[in-house]
Parts: sequence; structure tokens; C-alpha cells
Amino acid sequence: MIAEVIVDILNSETDKVFDYIIPTNLKIEEGTRVLVPFGNRKIEGYVIKIKEHSSLSSDKLKEIIKPIDDFVAILPEMLKLKDYMIKRYNLRASDVLRLFIPSEMRTGKVKPVLKTYCRLNKEFDLNAFALSLKKNATKQMELVLFLRDNEISDISTLNKEFGTQTVKKFISLGILSTFQEEYERKPETLEHKCERFVHTVEQERAINSIKQDKYETYLLHGVTGSGKTEVYMSLIENVLYTGKSAIMLVPEISLTPQIMFNFKNRFGENVALLHSGLSAGERYDEWRRLRNGKAKVAVGARSAIFAPLENIGIIIIDEEHDSSYSSESNPRYKTIEVADFRAKYNSCPLILGSATPSISSYYNTQIGKYKLLELPTRVNGKDMPKIQIVDMLSEIRNGNNGIFSSALKDELYSCVEQNKQTMLFLNRRGYTSFMMCRNCGYVAKCSDCDVSLVYHKVEDKLKCHYCGKRFKALTKCPQCGSAEIKQGAIGTQRVVDELKDMFPDVKILRMDNDTTQNKNAHQKILEEFSITHPAILVGTQMIAKGHDFPDVTLVGIIDADQSLYQSDYRSTERAFALITQVSGRAGRKNLEGNVILQTYNPRHYVYKFAANYNYKAFYEKEINLRETTKFPPFATILRILVSSEKEELARETIRKIYNDLADLYNEEKESFYYFNAMKSPVGRIKNKIRYQILMRFTKSKENDIIEKIYRVTDNYKSAKVSIFVEIDPQSLS
Ligand code: ADP
Ligand code: ZN
Ligand code: ZN
Repeated sequence: MIAEVIVDILNSETDKVFDYIIPTNLKIEEGTRVLVPFGNRKIEGYVIKIKEHSSLSSDKLKEIIKPIDDFVAILPEMLKLKDYMIKRYNLRASDVLRLFIPSEMRTGKVKPVLKTYCRLNKEFDLNAFALSLKKNATKQMELVLFLRDNEISDISTLNKEFGTQTVKKFISLGILSTFQEEYERKPETLEHKCERFVHTVEQERAINSIKQDKYETYLLHGVTGSGKTEVYMSLIENVLYTGKSAIMLVPEISLTPQIMFNFKNRFGENVALLHSGLSAGERYDEWRRLRNGKAKVAVGARSAIFAPLENIGIIIIDEEHDSSYSSESNPRYKTIEVADFRAKYNSCPLILGSATPSISSYYNTQIGKYKLLELPTRVNGKDMPKIQIVDMLSEIRNGNNGIFSSALKDELYSCVEQNKQTMLFLNRRGYTSFMMCRNCGYVAKCSDCDVSLVYHKVEDKLKCHYCGKRFKALTKCPQCGSAEIKQGAIGTQRVVDELKDMFPDVKILRMDNDTTQNKNAHQKILEEFSITHPAILVGTQMIAKGHDFPDVTLVGIIDADQSLYQSDYRSTERAFALITQVSGRAGRKNLEGNVILQTYNPRHYVYKFAANYNYKAFYEKEINLRETTKFPPFATILRILVSSEKEELARETIRKIYNDLADLYNEEKESFYYFNAMKSPVGRIKNKIRYQILMRFTKSKENDIIEKIYRVTDNYKSAKVSIFVEIDPQSLS
């Protein structure tokens, strides 16, 4: 038989697929990783197909040397998924296959840890042995009796207790026999008390609405604190009863110890955790436990969607709106699309959960593509915390130029006085800076695209990330003439410093990229916060998600506008999600919560709707806007990014691609809303010059157009120039 093998070479533009002969004594299946001769080297590869004949004559073919693992690493489902991903995202097979196994497995650096165990030989006769023993050989007798009682012990324990020499001698005399078994490295989890709840009526209704054994996508829209996690766990429990397995995804940032304990406690050994905090050995062993069926629930961040599970009964994506579900570097893919493929393949439900669904997902419930399930109230029966919008411009007019509005100051003092806790939130994602007038709130926007312009310091220019237009940086506000127009944001450290002046005796904690570099730093800060009263936690996105502190009664959003003015058509949707998410940290148990939101633009519709937790009204406004401006879900945005160390080559390549695509554009002019080539907003990254073609076209033609684009771009790939096609990218910098 012949195996088609993809050999795993880095830095090759295209896949290398070769035929190899399968020696008759080797057990090789589709999906087996194999070692093959390649030139004068031996390298790893994947068998993607087994066939009777090769088109090459057999004297040209070499033989597979051996399988690498004693199991099939790539399941049949995953081979199909690979084909889907190649077609959808134009990826190399070897890049896709790499996603399916832990990276440490490929390099062969991590192997199962084997332990040696001893037991008494079957023919061992205790009486005869006792008679033959010298009188003072008590240790030897103890060893034998120990194994008679315990049957099996690992050799290192025996060595320690009874002496290495004795154990060695007994093995050589045939008194002891040895065998090896795999020892599993497990990520540490702490004790946590397992709560069981009587479901609320809403939870029960949601759980019962989901049909097992049938492919269908559900959107679980539940306010923060509505008990979505409990719904997920019950659904998984039901699936496990039927002998099937489950995948549960959360954004990396909300893979909090709390979530992990909850799952470990509910499902024990049945859970395997896949996240970036694991050591290489742990990740490998967790993956193996899923592959060999010892664990049936995979819990992890984005890449856990590739968990090597068979017979999947449910896939759940929590915080489905989170941008981390979109892989933005090679290999690029969309987690929800991959999940959809797997759900279809396994005929099982796919659950997308969120307090603030993405506009596109909610749109799908309106057109009947997804089923909508709702948890409109909090489990504790309390109202959502009250959000007070504070106009920072009027603060300035009243002589307050500080970080904190007087309303926030008042609330801070009262919270500290009552010995409660506060969370103060600053938005730092992406750290894109917009220009804003401190006098009237004017924000510079693109004249063509109605998105905020981004200030690029190096060139001192404002740029639109959607059409590439450049504008002069402003020195004076075009609306009111004030010179108080600037970019720039407040840092966490500055907030902490001011708080220390205000509250010298209160514990102030800070959580951001700088303070969480060390392993477990996250957890330590949160633990300290949870036991300190009063306390103030200042942080970025990291504090927005998943935390459940009962004594937080005040949440402050220092610079709400930061999320609003990112140059992205999704920035309002993100701002809404963030405000809801952050506000949801207050008043989670029995206390009332209070939220202060500081903005220079208090009349923006996103604040109006977010303050009332009116997702549906926000959605209506937003979806109308998208329809008139032709943005997703009514259009597909696509970027072809060409980069090279050689400027000339990058420019030449983008020009050729543009010319080739111009025909397509002219043929289908009515399908396109935008089509242009330009230098990328960030023109150079890691010494590579970047050019791009940006386009927006009607959703209904998506598959057709994308396929044609792939065919064109494939012609120009080479070792000296990289070309990536991105569908609906999260960032256009
Ligand atoms: P969400 O993910 O929707 O924000 P959580 O799942 O974190 O909400 O639940 C909020 C809180 O309510 C948690 O402390 C959780 O343990 C608790 N909880 C969930 N379901 C119930 C229930 N049926 N009865 C009592 N408490 C519950
Ligand atoms: Zn102004
Ligand atoms: Zn523009």
C-alpha cells in the first residue's frame, strides 16, 4: 500500500506531499504521524491518505521508516476539518495539522513519562523464601511482605524503603518482576467547594430547549450574573450521561482559576484543561488524556476547539463576541466557523453564550439561522447595577481637570467608609490613539468611512484604517477652535498614584500587563483583593471578565471613550460589551452595585443603551447603521496583505495582484462596495514593508469571490514575499 505523506518542513511556501511505500510489517493508518526519509534526512510527516497505487513507479518510492506514536494522532474528523480549513482560509495543510496536536509533540521534546513498578513474581513461594533467609535479613523479609500486602509499588519507593541493592538483587534473582506504566503530569488545581444549585426557571427553560443529538446553533443571551456557567455545566453533564464528550471554550483572559475549579470540581478527572499557563509536559499529557478517552471534557481557550475528542455531544463557546476567537496570525481562522464544522460533523448542538452577543450573531437569530435562548435576569434576583454617566467636559468647565469626576470621588469615599471594594477600569487594548478635543468632545473621523482616525506618531499623521486615507494631525479643534486637542491616555500607574494620595491607608492593587508577567501573578493579585477590605483594584481588560467578588459595590470606568474610538466598525459594539462586562462586576451577591462611567461624549447612543442594559435597542440601532453603510453582517471585509523586506517587490506584487483582480472587480462591480490598493496604515513591521488591497463586497457572493482571490494570490507566493488573505480581520493596522 501507498501512503500520501505531508512532510513537516517549516518555511516552505507550499505543502510538500509525497508518496511512500508502507512496509507490510508496519501498522499505518490515515492520520498516523510517521518518520520518513527525505533527501538524506529523516523527518516527521503525517499520513493524510492511504491508497493502492502511486502514479510514480515503485523504484522511485521510498519506504516509511516507522510510525512516531502508538496511536493515530489525527482523527478522521480532523482530516476532514483540515480540508475545510484549507479551502476556507487558503492555508497550508502542514500549518493546519500543526494546530491539531500539541506543539511539543512535534519536536519530540516531550514524551510520556514512564514509571517503573515492581511486583512479586507469580512463581514466588513465600514459605520457601522465608526458610532460605538468613536470620538477620529482616529488611529483605519486610520488602517481600510489603509487596505481598500492596501487590504493586513503584521502584523508587522500594529503593528508598528497602535499599537499592536489595531491590536490584531481587530483580536479578527473579523474585521481583518489573513493568513500566505511564505517569500523568497534571496541572495543579486547588480545593474548592462544589456548589450545586436548584436551577432557576430561566436556566431550566434554556437547558430544556436544547436538543441533543441534533446539529443546531443556539445563542444563549444571558445578562451578567444570570448563571450561564451553570447552564453550560448542566448541558455537559447531560452529554456525559450519554457517553459523549464536550468542548467548552472561554477567552484566554477569562480562564480564571475560578472557572477552572468550577469545572474540575464538577467533572473531576473527566476534565482536561488546555491553556497557555500549562507546562509543555502538562499540555501534552492533558491532550493525551483527551485522545485516549480518559478525559471527555476539554476546557480551554481558542485552540481547544481542536481537542482530539471523538463522539462530541456539545460544543460551547462562552463570551462568543470576544475578539480572541479570531486567530489573527498565521494560520488565521475563525473559531466559531471551526466549531460549526465540528458540530455539524458530530450532529450536535453548538452553544454560543454572551451577555452582549456580537451584532452578527444576534442578526443570525433574527434571520432564523441561530435559535435564541434568553436569561434576562440575575440569579440573585437583584437589578443590574445602576450606571451613572458622568460628563467629563462639564467637569473641566467646573474646574476639575483631574482623572476622577466629583461623582466618582464621592462614591470612592463612601465605598471605603463602608469597608467595601471598588474596581476601577481603564481601557488599554490595542492602545490606538484617537484625537479628541478636550473642550467640546470633537473626535477626528474619516471623511469617507465614518470611523475614527488613528494618530500615527512617527509620521505625525492621522490615518483611516479602512480606506488608507491620510490627514494632517490637528493642532486646533475644527469645531470649536480650541487648542486643547490631543491624543493620549491615562495609565494605570497614574491612577494608582492619585488613589494613594487620596487614601493613604487603603490597599490599592494594580492589574495590567506590567504587573502580571510572572506565573500566577494574576491569581495572587485577585486573591489578595478578595480578602482585603476596603480595597481598590485598578486594572485593564483583565479585570473585566469572569470575576465574582461579592463585596465589590463600586465600579468606575475611567476612560470609556477609549474603546469607542478605535478605528474599527465594531468599536461601538465592543464599547457596549465592555461597559456591560465591567459593570457586571458590581453587586453580584447580596449587595447593591453602583457604576460610574466617565465620558467626554455623554450623549453617544452606546452609553445611553448600555446604561439601561438595553441590548436589543442597541442592536436595532447598530444593525440599521450596518445595513445603510454596508458593513458586516451585510458585507464581507477582506484584506490582502503583502509584505516583504524588499519594498520594490512588495509594491510590484500588490500591483500585479491588483491588476489581476481588477477584472473580477469590473465583472462584479455591483457586488463591491469598496476596492482599493494602498500602503498599510502601519507601513512596516519587523523590517517588512507592508502593502494591502482592501475590499468590501456583498455577503451573498462571499464564497465565490474569496475563491477567485485565492487563485490569484497563490500565483505570487514566493520565499521573498508573504501574502495573507484575511476575512473580516479584527485589526487593520
Ligand atoms: P454569568 O456567567 O451568567 O455571568 P455565573 O455563571 O457567573 O453568571 O453565575 C453568577 C453566580 O450565580 C455565580 O456565583 C453562580 O455560582 C451562581 N448561580 C448560578 N446558578 C445558580 C442557581 N441556580 N442558584 C443559585 N446560584 C446560582
Ligand atoms: Zn473642540
Ligand atoms: Zn476612510
